[in-house]
Amino acid sequence: MQATMFYGPEDVRWEHRPDPEIELPTDAVVRVTAACVCGSDLWGFRGYRPPGEPRPVGHEFVGVVEETGAGVSTVKPGDFVIAPFVISDNTCVNCRNGIQTSCLHGQGWGALDPDGRQIDGGQGEYVRVPLADGTLVATPEQPGKELIPGLLSLSDVLGTGHHAALAAGVGPGRTVAVVGDGAVGLCAVLAAVRLGAERVIACSSHADRQQVATGFGATDIVAERGDEAAAVVRDLLGDTGADCVLECVGTEASMDQAMATVRPGGRIGFVGVPVGGAQVRIGQMFSRNVAVGGGVAPVRAYLDELLPEVLDGRLDPSPVFDLELPMAQVAEAYRAMHERRSIKTLLWP
Ligand SMILES: [Zn+2]
Repeated sequence: MQATMFYGPEDVRWEHRPDPEIELPTDAVVRVTAACVCGSDLWGFRGYRPPGEPRPVGHEFVGVVEETGAGVSTVKPGDFVIAPFVISDNTCVNCRNGIQTSCLHGQGWGALDPDGRQIDGGQGEYVRVPLADGTLVATPEQPGKELIPGLLSLSDVLGTGHHAALAAGVGPGRTVAVVGDGAVGLCAVLAAVRLGAERVIACSSHADRQQVATGFGATDIVAERGDEAAAVVRDLLGDTGADCVLECVGTEASMDQAMATVRPGGRIGFVGVPVGGAQVRIGQMFSRNVAVGGGVAPVRAYLDELLPEVLDGRLDPSPVFDLELPMAQVAEAYRAMHERRSIKTLLWP
């Protein structure tokens, strides 16, 4: 097969790889029908923590089951499946508590399993899926091609935006500000609207992203940054800040902006990968009674709830994909997102 390998900063390659086979009874082999590049893939592309040696990459994909091991019972060959961005058994105590990202048997796409077997990345033609029963979720029937982008968003960004909204306590009547206008931030807007928020303020200075946010139901757009943005939010709301702030970037600046934007007694839900040493100022949490929750999103936990709404069109996150390329052009997909020419790039095999 052909698949994407990550070599180092600004170096991803589409190259020949061994065809995956069933190695364990709990495995499935999936033929990928769509994959995409994640904002978190870009950290590596930009040189943060270079790999020691080339490794398979990609953790968001959907596809069709080709083959299953003898121990797999919830999916069968021919099923269309969604793969969450973390491999989990969905049965251990952490999974039962709804935190599948802390699965006691959890594994990562593109990494080695506990016995040293290579796990495929999602940006390739085929993937061996460990713990297939726990990890994969099948749709009731084959979806049309027009539904595939929305279904693909369930493997990460839609569930991650939803997680931010839940962690921030979004609900009917709440005022919400979203920091970050990447695909996760935009999905956080969609999730907050879905949960009944009264006002949803999207912070973005890019016209294309503002347009997606408005299409998702954002009531206001704030183009300023940092403390200036927080001041505009206060003016818009006529309050001392937003009830709920969804932090979808992961930098020190975005966390500071979230803290400046939330009202006393409010909540911050954070889902941006904190790569740059971002800190939460516990003194501010104390003095202003601000709660901070969230973390790496257990999107597997939300699939049962969100999938039917994507299938019937009530929830359409597909506008976050503004560029579609053949997988063989994966390097251009990374460059387009790195240079912010694309919000999120979908890869077709
Ligand atoms: Zn588990």
